[in-house]
Amino acid sequence: MVAWTGPAARAPAADFIVDADGRAVLPGFVDSHAHLVFAGERSAEFAARMAGRPYQAGGILTTVAATRAATDIALRANLRRLAAEMLRQGTTTFECKSGYGLTVVDERRALVLAAEVTPEVTFLGAHVVPPEFAGDVPGYVDLVCGPMLDACAPHARWVDVFCEDGAFGADEAAAVLAAGRAAGLAPRVHANQLRPGPGVRVAAEAGAASADHCTFLTDADIDVLTSTPVVATLLPGAEFGTRQPFPDARRLLDAGATVALATDCNPGSSFTSSMPFCIALAVRDMRMTTQEAVWAATAGGAAALRRADVGHLGVGAKADLILLDAPSHAYLAYRPGVPQIAAVWQVGRLVAGSPPSSP
Ligand SMILES: [Zn+2]
Repeated sequence: MVAWTGPAARAPAADFIVDADGRAVLPGFVDSHAHLVFAGERSAEFAARMAGRPYQAGGILTTVAATRAATDIALRANLRRLAAEMLRQGTTTFECKSGYGLTVVDERRALVLAAEVTPEVTFLGAHVVPPEFAGDVPGYVDLVCGPMLDACAPHARWVDVFCEDGAFGADEAAAVLAAGRAAGLAPRVHANQLRPGPGVRVAAEAGAASADHCTFLTDADIDVLTSTPVVATLLPGAEFGTRQPFPDARRLLDAGATVALATDCNPGSSFTSSMPFCIALAVRDMRMTTQEAVWAATAGGAAALRRADVGHLGVGAKADLILLDAPSHAYLAYRPGVPQIAAVWQVGRLVAGSPPSSP
């Protein structure tokens, strides 16, 4: 835990000293949106899209088929590889969703695996409608709100829904979130990613912690995000990976919204686990200042997960921190693509990299 902060000359005695030697120390990144329980990969789909084919949400079903066919051992190995990759890049807290199982058994399995690596586990049975329910969205929503939720709720903290044309409409999304709340889960929403829609409003009405994507917002959506506690979580990796327009972070910040940055790490639209990469995109392409982007990637992510103990280095915070191999936070955007995380501590314990030798 962080016990004291202030000038080095006035530091209390300590058992162990690390001299950062002029380098920047930041809170560990808080990645509040990631889809890490899956099998397979979709690099061919990405390459085709970059060659000019538009993104369609249907690609998710490719991953659903691979995930259902995978063993627990294979899913766990992929999940742990990604979690370790995140840690090396300075992410000390992350959220992890289900959503590639879409059966009672496969969604429950995804959540049990996710809970092995993070307490921030999200039930996303309402990701897309699986092929066996094609043409019967109400039937699938009944499954999600009934037997699937019963099996999944004990293993999750959050409930999420993909509220978008081609996925779930406003009434269906509201039903999923209400059922999740009744089962003790707190809502969050995939909202307004591909076009304007009801997602942000649905999130606010459900008391969601966060509306994620927020790429296409009306003035009314902005009003909702500034007049309610809903955090606007921006996922620029998805716009990078689908060549969509980036969300207008400047408009949100100038209006007074709370903004978080997260990776949306998933094998289809955004296969990056790098918060520094998202910070660089936010600064370069979304007109966030370097300070705003780093805040959104730390304290903003903590707000989106309703966590007061991470995302900052105030007294009482968990001692989750990163040492940059650079003199300032600005280098995260100033030197994009360059590994700059020299060391990572989680609850005061060195978990990645190596600090300068102690004096
Ligand atoms: Zn997502």
